[in-house]
Amino acid sequence: AATDSITSEQIAVGKRAHELDREHVFHSWQAQGPFDPMTILKAEGSWVWDGEGNKLLDLSSQLVNTNIGHQHPKVVAAIQEQAGKLCTIAPQHVNDARSEAARLIAELTPGDLNHVFFTNGGADAVEHAIRMARLHTGKHKVLAAYRSYHGGTQLAINATGDPRRFSNDRGDSGVVHFMPPYPYRSYFAATTEAEETERALRHLEDLITLEGAANIGALILESIPGTAGIYVPPAGYMEGVRTLTRKYGIIFIADEVMAGFGRSGKWFAINHWDITPDLITFAKGVNSGYVPLGGVAISDAIFETFRERPYPGGLTYSGHPLACAAAVATINAMKDESMVENAARLGEQIIGPVLAELKAKHPSVGDVRGTGCFWAVELVTNRETREPMAPYGGSSPAMAAVTAALKKAGMLPFVNFNRIHVVPPLNISDADLRTGLAMLDEALDVADSFVTD
Ligand code: PLP
Repeated sequence: AATDSITSEQIAVGKRAHELDREHVFHSWQAQGPFDPMTILKAEGSWVWDGEGNKLLDLSSQLVNTNIGHQHPKVVAAIQEQAGKLCTIAPQHVNDARSEAARLIAELTPGDLNHVFFTNGGADAVEHAIRMARLHTGKHKVLAAYRSYHGGTQLAINATGDPRRFSNDRGDSGVVHFMPPYPYRSYFAATTEAEETERALRHLEDLITLEGAANIGALILESIPGTAGIYVPPAGYMEGVRTLTRKYGIIFIADEVMAGFGRSGKWFAINHWDITPDLITFAKGVNSGYVPLGGVAISDAIFETFRERPYPGGLTYSGHPLACAAAVATINAMKDESMVENAARLGEQIIGPVLAELKAKHPSVGDVRGTGCFWAVELVTNRETREPMAPYGGSSPAMAAVTAALKKAGMLPFVNFNRIHVVPPLNISDADLRTGLAMLDEALDVADSFVTD
């Protein structure tokens, strides 16, 4: 059970770590000068303790990766056991942890995705999936959605449809972006979900025609776009994408780095539809990030391309034993403890209904959407005009105040532009989840004070 006691020694260690961090650590995505990172002294289950010893409910699951919560004892033990046996081995050798992780993943992925190439994380999984698709088809262009995130390496950030791409853009990436469905702010002037699906698919097919199907090797799409706003695709859209990619000989890469491994209430978000993509990229939830791991699940047909022809790619740590042992233990713990079923139940019985109540109560809530333990609350200053509470790509005094209120209430939140994401561990207790949603309710009072007529 979680203990609340943080000692003065732990706090002193945290303060020293913070000083050293500011002197020597270069952080992701930040202007280094003004950045004041939060120290985490300890983490257990759904809770973390900050540098002052305050206990915070981790409704962010860090970067939406600790699907089994922090310090799951079975996974910690598996990593310790593997470390005692064999910490590392080069990727060309056979290793039992890696073989078993690949078997478990192949068993969980849909259809004929029977082979797994392991990477260190999500971005390099995306890079390799695109490389495989290009080599398999002999075609270079890649279609990717706006309002998406695919990773921070060169090609992955070029495939990304969020402002982090702007300063990394390269004209020769071969990526062309399309508009995905977003019923709440329909780009297609749709008034129903059916219209949104039909028009978004027509736009996609037009784009394929205009870009030249003969040049397009891959289409990469998050099965449920995550960081960009948790947009569960409207009925028929994903089937339509599968049909179009087949029709034009385009490899369909489902990016499941965030949506996969139970987050959406199914093992993979693509399982919400009766389709099989050609490649699935995964990372994060595969082992809850306890040791860095990602990968690509590969169809039989793409595997055949590389049966006789060498695959031109690799990593020193592909299938690292510690990471794979953590994946095996994570997947088994998720099965034994029915975490995926629990995520679906939490979404249906608690998060969905409570967010609907919060939407009815708080005029600042424009839209709530999601599934499983994967939800977004979109804040607006005016429900009629749907004016976002922060501009695309930015923050605002209103969102800063809401974020501060969430932290003050005792939550470690996931906030992006004008959205708060409710993305707890899949095994959070019902009581903790309700506590977190009550904190959200409290913070939304602050958001309401920024609503204008
Ligand atoms: N793809 C998706 C859908 C993601 O959400 C992320 C990370 O948030 C990535 C790729 C990149 O993964 P990583 O940060 O492990 O490189």
